[in-house]
Amino acid sequence: AIQVKDLHKSFGDNEVLKGIDFHVDNGEVVCVIGPSGSGKSTLLRCINRLEEANSGQVLVEGVDIFDPETDLDAVRSRIGMVFQQFNLFPHMSVLRNLTVAQEKVRGRSKKESVEIARANLDKVGLSGRENVYPGHLSGGQQQRVAIARALSMDPDMMLFDEPTSALDPELVGDVLDVMKTLASEGMTMMVVTHEMGFAREVGDKLVFMDGGVIVEEGDPREVLGNPQHQRTQAFLSKVL
Ligand code: ATP
Ligand code: MG
Repeated sequence: AIQVKDLHKSFGDNEVLKGIDFHVDNGEVVCVIGPSGSGKSTLLRCINRLEEANSGQVLVEGVDIFDPETDLDAVRSRIGMVFQQFNLFPHMSVLRNLTVAQEKVRGRSKKESVEIARANLDKVGLSGRENVYPGHLSGGQQQRVAIARALSMDPDMMLFDEPTSALDPELVGDVLDVMKTLASEGMTMMVVTHEMGFAREVGDKLVFMDGGVIVEEGDPREVLGNPQHQRTQAFLSKVL
């Protein structure tokens, strides 16, 4: 589970997060939407301290990640992250992309790492692509490799930052299907997305951010079908 309490974050004098309170329970899928610059990525990045907050609290499985006593690497290794730009290692084969952190961070043997990698490639529909280099795959395939790589670390939760925004439209569905399967298996997920269909169908909760605050949150069908705030209405009228 993730709990965020009164989180503030500024870049210089630009306050980007203005007191965010937010939680993701275990097994829950929380989707985050909002206009460009509203602070969605910053919020996501604060959760595993890729970004330093100015004040407030982030608890991951009850552990305060800003506490100097906290083993940040241990917390981070339980959180899988998937970004818009896949971030695969271009000079490594697909299989190596999936095994390197298992060996170096998890201390698994080569054999075990390969077995886990193959199982996860199969799960994302890419078995047989072990020896290909990322540059020879489509964007959708690369993103599914990125998901398989994250899963190979046995994360407790997955954070997605617009995982389909860089993809050609016909490649989006395969990636969303993989995410849907993960959700149905009970993975705890926070998903920044513009895919309203996914949010409606898969999300347990939908959060609308604007200008560094959470303007509205609730059941996705409610928020999308009957937004309560004028800012939510204005945003949805542009994207739906
Ligand atoms: P998008 O939908 O375009 O991805 P977003 O909601 O993810 O937008 P953020 O990337 O969190 O928005 O950015 C929020 C604000 O913070 C923006 O004004 C951005 O310019 C600023 N910002 C983000 N990262 C930095 C940084 N490293 N240094 C300075 N300003 C930053
Ligand atoms: Mg962003």
